[in-house]
Amino acid sequence: EYKDIATPSRTRDILKKYGFQFKKSLGQNFLTEPNILRNIVEAAELDETSNAIEVGPGIGALTEHLARSAKEVLAFEIDGRLIEVLEETLSPYPNVTVVNEDVLKADLTTIAKETFKQDLPIKVVANLPYYITTPIMMHFLESDLNVSEMVVMMQKEVADRITAKPSTKAYGSLSIAVQYYMEASVAFIVPKTAFIPQPNVDSAIIKLVRRDKPAVEVNDEKAFFKLTKAAFQQRRKTLWNNLQATYGKEEAIKERLAKALETAGIDPKRRGETLSLEEFAKLSNALG
Ligand code: SAM
Repeated sequence: EYKDIATPSRTRDILKKYGFQFKKSLGQNFLTEPNILRNIVEAAELDETSNAIEVGPGIGALTEHLARSAKEVLAFEIDGRLIEVLEETLSPYPNVTVVNEDVLKADLTTIAKETFKQDLPIKVVANLPYYITTPIMMHFLESDLNVSEMVVMMQKEVADRITAKPSTKAYGSLSIAVQYYMEASVAFIVPKTAFIPQPNVDSAIIKLVRRDKPAVEVNDEKAFFKLTKAAFQQRRKTLWNNLQATYGKEEAIKERLAKALETAGIDPKRRGETLSLEEFAKLSNALG
């Protein structure tokens, strides 16, 4: 019988035993609320039919819950000091592999192939390092991995942006980049007191579920994402001004833009934040 790693007393014991000092620069805020960990794993609905990938296992608080539910767990931890800690804390779980690498530099597809014995759908479940939340999300979404779901903790402010609907303050190119691939919702809010040390901001768990096919049909994904970024470049400017800033102000380009807007039935005086994914797709396809 093992006591949960995430209880405040066991966490304290482990940190003390290894003389561990938190590194703020690595976004190290460890969860010490067993209840919240249970809720995260519940939201992920893990069982033997999927493998899990975790970013930043820390001392293994979430990892052990994943190990108990998923078939296999692959965890990326950048901080070499934590590797020997994890060797001890996760020793009861033979289905866990910890890789001492920066997740953003890791070749996810190759490492997953080498690690997982079975090619099952992958669920990404993590308490993310907040200084790189968005790059990590995009790294997974743009990889060739078979990611069926992501249940991840992040700053509430970023969670709001990812799940935002059109014509809201939080809606932007990040909302579109994620919602293009995944159905996104906020699962629950986590108070600062659940962590040591406590972060400065509120946190939220979001749940992303892979769509059968992307939310909208676009002829050229790269062009679509370029367009959505262009539309939000300066939030207070009209679509027309923002598009010219990216695509150019030459007459021929202006003509092409005007024609595409007309074909898509979009008023150039609107602001980017009012356009739905469908409208962005129409405009992108019309631009050719
Ligand atoms: N999972 C643990 C928990 O919930 O208590 C720790 C979460 S803590 C918010 C973030 C973890 O990510 C830290 O262990 C940190 O060292 C690790 N980390 C930071 N940057 C990383 C990167 N680029 N690649 C992999 N891990 C990283």
